[in-house]
Amino acid sequence: MSQSYPCYKPDVLQDILKAKERGTEAYKKGQYGAASAEYSKAIANFSTAPIPVDPESTTDPKAEPTVLLGTLKSNRSASYFNEKKYEDALKDADDAVRLRPDWAKGYFRRAEVYRVLARHSDALEAYEAAHQRDVRDRLILERLTKTKIILKDASMGVALHQLAPGRDLCQKSFMTPIQNMIFEYAVQMRNFIYLVENLASKECLVVDACWDIDGIIKFAQKRGLKIVGAIATHYHVDHVGGLPPPPFDRYRVRVDGLAKLLKKLPKIKAYVNPADIPGILKANPEIPQDRFSHTEDGGTLCLPMSLNIGLGGTVGGQSDHVSDGRSTIMQFIHTPGHTPGSQCVLINGCKLLSGDTLFMGACGRVDFPDSDRDKMYHSLQHKLATLPDDVIVYPGHNYGGEMTTIENEREHGLLRPKSKDDFLREVSNT
Ligand SMILES: [Zn+2]
Repeated sequence: MSQSYPCYKPDVLQDILKAKERGTEAYKKGQYGAASAEYSKAIANFSTAPIPVDPESTTDPKAEPTVLLGTLKSNRSASYFNEKKYEDALKDADDAVRLRPDWAKGYFRRAEVYRVLARHSDALEAYEAAHQRDVRDRLILERLTKTKIILKDASMGVALHQLAPGRDLCQKSFMTPIQNMIFEYAVQMRNFIYLVENLASKECLVVDACWDIDGIIKFAQKRGLKIVGAIATHYHVDHVGGLPPPPFDRYRVRVDGLAKLLKKLPKIKAYVNPADIPGILKANPEIPQDRFSHTEDGGTLCLPMSLNIGLGGTVGGQSDHVSDGRSTIMQFIHTPGHTPGSQCVLINGCKLLSGDTLFMGACGRVDFPDSDRDKMYHSLQHKLATLPDDVIVYPGHNYGGEMTTIENEREHGLLRPKSKDDFLREVSNT
């Protein structure tokens, strides 16, 4: 059977290019339905011929029919993708790959669809194919890295969901102007909220439940997850909610947070280092004391929750728990400095939720009245710096990145070995 090749009549080239341009304009404006319609018009000018078009016959390589049709299919795939028409998007991406097998974009479009459909092994293969064809594209590399992490997590029975106000939470509709102001503030603060999911039991824990409790609950529900507990990395309002800092306090509007989550889910507990409980209660006096479960340095909390039976009020104590590929083991590391009760959470020994203790290339502020620079030095240099290189670090804010590694921070950041004097000098300069 002879392969058929796309072609178009020479006199329609201008129509094709104009429709393509209109499609791109619409796409840039976020009008994805209009964009895919324009791309469809352009594509309708193609037919298939049993013989290839002589490449010499066109001078512009972008007008070569196979290349042009491949580009149009890729563009329409992106439009369909944004319209959430994933089946159509995948079909066009496959066509783009077939037409332009040496081009990274088609594989990337294919991978994007697999990613949202949670077909992570297929996505990995497609991102790898895209990366091989364009090693310098940073988005492709970033997605490839993330997909590898998702697959590794899945092999341990875990999924970690990183949520950000303005991206995954805090939808702008149905809001009063004052709420809008608070949410503007939320977006500025660049907080991350995390859901730690145990794949086998579909149970999850919320870490730093803040800003949009309804959004967090909805996110969990959409995935069929049951929220079985809350962890606070520290007491600051942008992590647990309560009365916001000035100038927003004068509106008497409170930031959504832990208090609301505990009220909506009356059976769950908040796992908090006791040194930060007074701070939480100051901004959220309505939380009853018995809703707190005290954590301690080195203590563990497991998912499914049934594994914790018998642990009593205080979580853990030292534990040699190793994940069996189904259970999720979270170990608390008390890291005072930013606040007295700041804590990080180590998930299955290989992922660290670092709260406001460690950021990419930086640490949390130590100029608050209850901050302690000496303790921060100890927390960073004697606790976090002792973790293995390949531990992935997920910070409490997006200051310079969504994630980093212990190795990276040991080489370039504040885990780099240094004297206390050097550290104190460094943090007082910032
Ligand atoms: Zn903080």
